[in-house]
Amino acid sequence: MTTTQPGDHHIATALARVRERIDAAARAADRDPAHITLVAVSKTKPAARVAEALDAGQRDFGENYLQDALAKIETLAARDPLWHFIGDIQSNKTRDIASGFAWAHAVDRFKIARRLSDQRPGGMAPLNVCIQVNIDGEASKSGLAPDDVPELAEQIAALEHVRLRGLMAIPAPADDFETQRRPFAALRALMDQLNADGHALDTLSMGMSADLEAAIAEGATHVRVGTAIFGARDT
Ligand SMILES: *Cc1c(COP(=O)(O)O)cnc(C)c1O
Repeated sequence: MTTTQPGDHHIATALARVRERIDAAARAADRDPAHITLVAVSKTKPAARVAEALDAGQRDFGENYLQDALAKIETLAARDPLWHFIGDIQSNKTRDIASGFAWAHAVDRFKIARRLSDQRPGGMAPLNVCIQVNIDGEASKSGLAPDDVPELAEQIAALEHVRLRGLMAIPAPADDFETQRRPFAALRALMDQLNADGHALDTLSMGMSADLEAAIAEGATHVRVGTAIFGARDT
């Protein structure tokens, strides 16, 4: 395979490749690629790498380690990136997420949603929120059981300073396209059901480096891509 060193990784090139994958998947699904937001997952990567992506025209970034994210948010404030918090949210993190981010993708408890709403600073637009759904019943993953989503959606929709936008899921990794596609189809069906019940959700946050094509085939509006843009993460 390749013998690429970490320093050789060209973010602009990697970003262009990911955008090509998104465009191709959108075309295959007869969708407009402009309706698919690429969230570049920069967790664990230094601000300088995020700056390279900004230079290449990328605007949306995903983070899930709060302390690491806050430092980057401060460093890059003048560049005006749009920050998405994509990780689990503990109560003691809600204040910083409510003030530093435009989106929270992984809300699965009302207590957290209420704190985000209460703590969203006045003068900022409502925080965009997705409910994380455990769509394939994977024991190891967080997220709400599908049956419990309608009640939480009702509760969140009533909050003043968050705006319920849609659903998010991280299905179990799978190698083949049809297996990847199944949980994404289920998440889309759940959003359709909520909309039939009176919600106006417009967001499906699904698909990562390995399965973004399958997610786009099933209607993803936000794909969260880390490795394919920034390279492997140190563990
Ligand atoms: C890390 C992470 C991603 C990105 O995964 P890659 O496989 O690196 O593209 C997407 N979503 C969430 C919630 C993550 O934590």
